[in-house]
Amino acid sequence: MRVIFHSLGMKDKGTQLAASRKQLLQQMPDFSTILPGSLLSRMVHCNKPGCRFCEKGKGQGHGPMWILSVSLGNRQVRQIPIPNELKKEVEESLRAFAQVQKVLKQIAQVNLELLKERKRQRP
Ligand SMILES: [Zn+2]
Repeated sequence: MRVIFHSLGMKDKGTQLAASRKQLLQQMPDFSTILPGSLLSRMVHCNKPGCRFCEKGKGQGHGPMWILSVSLGNRQVRQIPIPNELKKEVEESLRAFAQVQKVLKQIAQVNLELLKERKRQRP
């Protein structure tokens, strides 16, 4: 943030903060496709009777398969199997979510500073 301030020269703090907020907004990804959770891979047991992959004690299950694990709160987790062809897309959506959250927090911080500044400059 300091680097940005220097490049702006002698402008007042409010102007500097508004400028860094504008810059942060430009870092906001397209968030129409965001997804929550995290991607993990594991073997899956289908529990079908007689399945040779899931045979008790011997079978390793199917996979490894990609699972999108989403926390629902109250210690509940939803696990959604992700087909291979959708994996890349899901990864991008997870990254976009993380980026949106990061930028949101930073903008909120800047706005806190702006609020302080506006209070300070009150007549
Ligand atoms: Zn099976």
